[in-house]
Amino acid sequence: MRFIVDCMHGKLARKMRIYGYDTIYENNLEDDEILSRAQDEKRVLLTSDEDLIRRAYSKNIPVIRIPLDNDLSRMTKIFKVLKVKPVLRPKFSRCPQCNDIIKRINKSDVKDVPDKILKRKKVFYKCFNCGKIYWYGSHWKKIREFEETLKTQFRHP
Ligand SMILES: [Zn+2]
Repeated sequence: MRFIVDCMHGKLARKMRIYGYDTIYENNLEDDEILSRAQDEKRVLLTSDEDLIRRAYSKNIPVIRIPLDNDLSRMTKIFKVLKVKPVLRPKFSRCPQCNDIIKRINKSDVKDVPDKILKRKKVFYKCFNCGKIYWYGSHWKKIREFEETLKTQFRHP
């Protein structure tokens, strides 16, 4: 399943990508473009914009109304609507920055990463589209903590 978010939900798009979902987000997309890309590329629209929701309904574009409060309630809503348990599989994560796939690379191929990271970390991934290198650092710890909290939302149906 693939997604497109409106221009307000960049943070949500990054999270969805980390969870492995192909998710389009561009902060300069007009509503018309969002709707036509959702339709052409068969994407579920994630938005909090009532006008956009109405227009999506009228075009039979699947849409999930996203709460505005925080990422936890947003992701909970999405997975509950999809009836999917959220599972974080880093191997299938997409690049949070550009939505392309990321691949594990050999340590010897890692460039432009601080020496102390290179010394301490063993596993590196690279996005071959934007070139960004990823490793399990403090940011990943936060994602794992988020994952634990998110899972508690799904323990009791
Ligand atoms: Zn990228």
